[in-house]
Amino acid sequence: MLYADVIVNIVHEKLDKSFQYKVPERLQGTLRLGSCVMIPFGTGNRLIKGYCVGLGDKCKIDPSKIKEIAEIVQNDAGDEGRSVALAAWIKENYGSTMIQALKTVLPMRKSVKKLERRTIVRKATKEELISMLGESQRKHQVAKARLLEALLEEETIPYEWVTSKLGVSAQAIGSLERLGALRIDSTTAFRDPVKVRAEGEEKKILSADQDKIIHDVLEDFDGGIHKTYLIHGITGSGKTEVYVRLVEGMVKRGRQVIMLIPEIALTYQTLLRFYRRFGNRVSVMNSTLSAGEKYDQCERAKAGEIDVIIGPRSALFTPFPNLGLIIMDEEHEASYKSEGTPKYHARETAEKLAELSGASLVLGSATPSVEAYYRALQGEYGLFRLKDRLTGGALPDVGIVDLREELRAGNRSIFSRKLQELLADRLSKGEQAMLFLNRRGYAGFVSCRSCGLVIKCPHCDVSLSEHGGNKLICHYCGYGIPKPAVCPSCGSKYVLGFKAGTEQIEEKLKELFPGVRTLRMDRDTTGTKDSYETILSAFANQEADVLIGTQMIVKGHDFPNVTLVGVLAADLSLGISDYRSGERTFQLLTQAVGRAGRGDKPGVAVIQTYQPDHYAVLAAAAQDYESFYQEEILYRELGGYPPVHHLLAVQTFSPDERAGERLASYMAGKVREYAKVHKIQMLGPSAATIGRINDVYRFVLYFKAEDYRKLVEIKDQLENYLSEERIAQENVQFDFDPMNFL
Ligand code: ADP
Ligand code: ZN
Ligand code: ZN
Repeated sequence: MLYADVIVNIVHEKLDKSFQYKVPERLQGTLRLGSCVMIPFGTGNRLIKGYCVGLGDKCKIDPSKIKEIAEIVQNDAGDEGRSVALAAWIKENYGSTMIQALKTVLPMRKSVKKLERRTIVRKATKEELISMLGESQRKHQVAKARLLEALLEEETIPYEWVTSKLGVSAQAIGSLERLGALRIDSTTAFRDPVKVRAEGEEKKILSADQDKIIHDVLEDFDGGIHKTYLIHGITGSGKTEVYVRLVEGMVKRGRQVIMLIPEIALTYQTLLRFYRRFGNRVSVMNSTLSAGEKYDQCERAKAGEIDVIIGPRSALFTPFPNLGLIIMDEEHEASYKSEGTPKYHARETAEKLAELSGASLVLGSATPSVEAYYRALQGEYGLFRLKDRLTGGALPDVGIVDLREELRAGNRSIFSRKLQELLADRLSKGEQAMLFLNRRGYAGFVSCRSCGLVIKCPHCDVSLSEHGGNKLICHYCGYGIPKPAVCPSCGSKYVLGFKAGTEQIEEKLKELFPGVRTLRMDRDTTGTKDSYETILSAFANQEADVLIGTQMIVKGHDFPNVTLVGVLAADLSLGISDYRSGERTFQLLTQAVGRAGRGDKPGVAVIQTYQPDHYAVLAAAAQDYESFYQEEILYRELGGYPPVHHLLAVQTFSPDERAGERLASYMAGKVREYAKVHKIQMLGPSAATIGRINDVYRFVLYFKAEDYRKLVEIKDQLENYLSEERIAQENVQFDFDPMNFL
């Protein structure tokens, strides 16, 4: 006997309400999860449409009351059917329940709270604004000047944007209000999170390379060819302009566009370009929107009120009636992979969605993921290159400094002699510098220099890090204690932090250059939502000479006054045993180096490293993606790593260490034979790299195979085992082609 769970109401909130039906024998071979079915419903047995979300051999209701599925609806091409099909694909390829997958795909309905929104409206004439602008430029009031410039271009600007994206303080706005430059309007019932007047921007003449991309993609589209394209082009090479024109082309064809962008890279300038071209036919989805506002955006999309949505990963699930194009900018970003179950990757999911919708997919990046480039070279994706920076601004001069040599020459400082020299020069000229600490895989742990004791978090298997000189905290669970004055084990006074974090760099810099104005950006200084923007804006306002930070500082804003970038220890991320560490190092270094010299003044970058010959370091210094890729793909081939082969990580979670380990071994036992027969390599089970977080123990099993389908088969077998043994799904997580080794 086969029974199916059927849902009849395809909305987020009703998904847990399913009805069980018997599957008649004639349908048993064809019915699948996600199939659209007709079922007799209610006392009148009226036939209604539903979707199959579960299959099993146990009858959960009174067997005399169970009804049979009437038929399977073939070719269910409606919006609902497409969402369910996408969810079924996600469930199948990443591992989760059908309900979890549907919840990922369907927007959550929440009543929309009418928030009060403020808008800044231009009040003075343009001439008056220009004279105020001159005045504030003379007084070096950079923030005010920026707002005045924006007001010269736009009549109304959302208040939030001015404070967060333009980095203008409430005081500065208030003072311009008193001067009569602007007025602040309050509106409620605000459906559109952003309002900027659409204004015909004068059209640029496209370069031949840009023109070819637009032409080819649209020609394919019109010829019924919907495929995936990768645009490889450095920052400033005109990718965004291409996106804008492609959107225009789609709008002309009556189709809609989803544009994915890592939230951190969503700048005011980029948004403005889309608003100028498409006015209120474009909308933005980001984390500052409430659930109600997000739902509202989905309703507007369904109703055909907007043509373009711009947003992070989850914007992929905007329910457009006639989707024509998905754009994925900075496709290499790790944030495109979901962190919770199902652990889907937006790139592959976008490909599936495009296929279901008859849409094209355009990926863009300055440093493409090895996956995307591999597929492009295999001919699976169309490949385009944009080689030149269109706005001038030469690429920076890059120097590599061998830190081992510095030590041999007697320099024990964290700044090489070359970097010190350049810093002194920039400070004397009033130019700005950025210092970048590659902290990935590096724990600023504290140890006793006498007995070697490392102080660890009592809830997680990680060492505590030092903060503010007198506190130790855990980065995973937030646990904190005052730093002990003496070693708890041997009583020695020498309990010290190991190596330099951003705080120590700041201290050392101040010792070296008394009076230097610094800003620091890392996980600790960006606790609140706005602090990220606040720090970057302060730096853009030239309130500091040097910005010190972790990988967070390499993205987003352009700083025209930055003429020096120093990477303090390029190879810290190369040390970790993770197949993506070379790729990540290359991407981070390339981005970091590219921060110098965005304005009129040429820039210089210094990469300090212990591995000056590593291909990722050399290729980043030369800004040479191709040579990086050639080395990297060789390594992936030899190691059997993605994208050449595929990996599946299966992780167990348990508050009981033994129970967690036992579950992992049982699962390994279940599929050992299958893996052997099908030449699937199995590794583990073993404790995860961080074996315990928040008192939950983690074990991990790895499977490696050339064929992704075989790994899906392993996952299916393990899911069956879990459901037979009634082991809750939350105890196990599947991760295909993981972003990190677990
Ligand atoms: P990317 O997205 O690759 O960083 P953009 O599209 O933002 O590149 O272009 C970089 C700069 O060059 C922008 O200021 C843009 O306005 C300008 N630009 C883009 N295309 C052209 C063009 N065809 N002619 C002149 N300027 C252009
Ligand atoms: Zn000790
Ligand atoms: Zn902890």
